[in-house]
Amino acid sequence: MATIVEYTCRKPPTNEYPAGVVSPPRAGSCCFSDMEEIGEPIEEGRWVFRYKRCRRCGFALRVILREIPDAALAAELRESLGRVFIRNSPA
Ligand SMILES: [Zn+2]
Repeated sequence: MATIVEYTCRKPPTNEYPAGVVSPPRAGSCCFSDMEEIGEPIEEGRWVFRYKRCRRCGFALRVILREIPDAALAAELRESLGRVFIRNSPA
């Protein structure tokens, strides 16, 4: 998964979401209370994530919100559930 966050102490923190975010390399104590969500949840591969950024120091990170169930696994599950249903139907 590619991230849009660039961690550097050579540039001032900026929020150019969704083009890019410049973040200090390390989180500060302010980040526990001052993080805000930026942008909308993004689906990529099997994951849904969202960017968060600290209002005070500009520290940004990507937070995984949930895992998308494997499509193949879901299809397999549906198929076996279907078989159970057929077996239990009155003939
Ligand atoms: Zn902070």
